[in-house]
Formats: sequence, C-alpha cells, structure tokens
Amino acid sequence: MKTLPVVAAGPLAAGKLAPAHLADLDLAARRAAVDRLGEPAFRAGQVSRHYFGRLVRDPAAMTDLPAAARERIAGALLPTLLTPLSERSGDGGDTRKLLWRLHDGALVESVLMRYPDRVTACVSSQSGCGMGCPFCATGQAGLTRNLSTAEIVDQVVSLAARAVTEYGQRLSRVVFMGMGEPLANYARVVTAIRRLVAPPPEGLGLSRRHVTLSTVGLVPAMRRLAAEDLPVTLALSLHAPDDDLRDELVPVNQRWRVAEVLDAAWAYAARTGRRVSIEYAMIRDVNDQPWRAARLGRLLSGRPAHVNLIPLNPTPGSAWRGSTRAAEQEFARRLKAAGVATTVRDTRGREIDGACGQLAASRSDSRSESRSGAGIGHPARAHRERAER
Ligand code: SAH
Ligand code: SF4
Repeated sequence: MKTLPVVAAGPLAAGKLAPAHLADLDLAARRAAVDRLGEPAFRAGQVSRHYFGRLVRDPAAMTDLPAAARERIAGALLPTLLTPLSERSGDGGDTRKLLWRLHDGALVESVLMRYPDRVTACVSSQSGCGMGCPFCATGQAGLTRNLSTAEIVDQVVSLAARAVTEYGQRLSRVVFMGMGEPLANYARVVTAIRRLVAPPPEGLGLSRRHVTLSTVGLVPAMRRLAAEDLPVTLALSLHAPDDDLRDELVPVNQRWRVAEVLDAAWAYAARTGRRVSIEYAMIRDVNDQPWRAARLGRLLSGRPAHVNLIPLNPTPGSAWRGSTRAAEQEFARRLKAAGVATTVRDTRGREIDGACGQLAASRSDSRSESRSGAGIGHPARAHRERAER
C-alpha cells in the first residue's frame, strides 16, 4: 500500500509564523491593532486604502500619514513578506514570473499574464506541495510550508501593482494555480479570497467570478468550500477518467476516487451556480488515448463542466512528454461529440521554465542534492488561462 500524501494541517506546518500583516486582518481587527499602537483608529482605513486601493506596499510612500505614525504602523502591520529573488519574462513580456523569498527562506512563485482583454495573476498557496503528483515540479519537491493569508494576498497586490506599471492595466483575475494545493491550506486561502473580493479599503475588490481555485480534489474541503458563500470558480485537476491511472497521476485519488471527486464537483456547481473547470494535462501515450476521451465524455456529458486540455509541460529529465497536436485534437473532438464543452489551451511561459514550481526547484537544486532524481517527471507547470467566462 502506498503512503498517502500528507495534508498539511494546523499552524503553518514546520517553520515560524509569518509576521503579522494588515492583510491577515479584517478592517475591524486592523482598527483595533492600530488603536493598540496608540494611533487613531481611522489610520487603519488610511493604510488599507494605500495598500488595497492604490497598491502601495512601501510605507515610506504613504505620505499623508505623519512620519511617526507611519513608522509605528508600518512596523506592526506592514512587514516585508515577499522579497523578490528573480524575475523572468516570456511571450514578449506578456508573461512574467516572479520568484519570492519569504521571511524564513522558503520560496514561492507568482506569475503575471497579459491577454488581449485581461491581466491574470497566478499565485501560490503553499511553498512546495505535499500531494506528490509525479508530473508536477512542485509535487516533486514536497511541502515546505503553508503560506499565511497575507503572504497569499501580498502576491496578488504586488502583481496588481506590476500590472499597472508594466501594462497600464488593472489586474482582472486571480487563479490559485501556482505552487501548492490551496484546499490543503484551507482557512488561510479562504480568508485570502475574502480579502481579494472585498471592496477597498477592506480588500482588493476583485469580482468573485474572476477568482479561480484549482484543486487536486480534496473532497471534504470541496464540500466545505461550496458552503462558504464564496462562489469562486472551481477547477478540478482530473487528468484521468479512470481510477487506475488517476491513482498514479494524482496520488490523492487513492483516498478520494474519481466518482467521489466528481460528485463533489457537481455539488459545488449546484450550490454556486458555477460551471466547474476540469483540468486535463495531456501526457503522450499515458492519458491521451481515444478510449479515455470517450470515457471522460461519458462521465461529463450533461454535467456543468468545461474541460481544459493542456499539453503537459515537461522538463529535461522527465520521461513524460506532452501529447501530439493530433492526439489533442482527436481527444477534444470526442469530448465535444459527447456534448462536453472543451477548450484546448495554449501554454504560457514555456521558455521561462513554464511556471510555478520550476524556478523554485532549480534554485533548490543548486543547494541540495535531495531533489534530483526525485521521481519520473520534473516538469514545469504549464500556465494557461482557464475558462472563467
Ligand atoms: N494543486 C492544485 C493547484 C496548483 S497546480 C492542483 O493541482 O490543481 C495547477 C494546475 O497545474 C493543476 O491542474 C496541475 O495538475 C497542473 N500541472 C502541474 N504540473 C503540470 C505540468 N507539468 N504540465 C501541465 N500542467 C501541470
Ligand atoms: Fe500539488 Fe497541484 Fe502539483 Fe499535484 S499538481 S503536486 S496538487 S501543486
């Protein structure tokens, strides 16, 4: 019997707590915190408007606050959470991947992607991931720790600021498709989403329809999320229609089977009125056979689902390759014939190591031997836009 991946629970797993930050708190708690510092409570609103409304993260730029107040408040509520380590850009600058160092040395990545009609931020919910999917670079490295609410929110706020300076555009969407399994860091991720959709000065004011959470399929957490009254788009990383193969590609399937995970997805759709995205990374000769397309079609036909087919984004050293274009087209054709809405996605950021997981993995590789040879695949994650309409 294989060991199941560890679902991180409790406080931020190993490491120390991230320093408290205003994005960890709701506005009332920020007021109370400012009051405890001996400052008038309205300063909490001022600082929040800078942070969420104007995307200012540097206290020195909050010049409408008296210098002494700024220092006191910044010291208590605006610690630096993310220190940029490197940045790479691809797709002619339309994709920018940032690698951050957290206060304790843990690494995370975020990606900013510009499309003709929108700008999307892809953020991490954990440093590493404990789910062990063998085709995923993050999975190979294991879990370092959960991120705090503010460490998640601060990725979005800094990318939103970048969207303005780089593209002159507002950030329109957020996808939890970076490092980590968001539902394994449930409470912090849900609180982060609440911050992202609350209007300023409470939060960033994104539309909840424009937030997508991608999960490997932790069934109890999916059911809990459905009851949160937070109808974000759910993406389910299915990758195989049959338990035999899914047990291998997505090891958590050994605990929650395909049928159970799809039931939870349909319950989510029924509760929120939102179609679920089914993610399917096309791996050549592994999960891309026509019979699997037919089987997937039977599972999804008549359901509130939209399939995203994405060619696997492999890295050197991986035994697995992305499907051929022809296999992908045939797979899509069969799904559509079964009446299932299907999109073949392009990938983003291939030339900058695909995506989340890989930059951090290459950094860590240079420091530790333990990563190399850690399994079959060591690919980058493909970054792509989802069906969120
Ligand atoms: N842990 C969550 C969210 C982060 S992964 C999840 O698994 O859903 C985001 C998406 O990237 C998932 O659909 C995941 O299966 C996919 N992914 C990971 N590695 C990939 C790769 N090498 N090529 C293509 N997609 C990949
Ligand atoms: Fe974790 Fe998602 Fe990668 Fe699986 S695909 S290891 S759940 S980040």
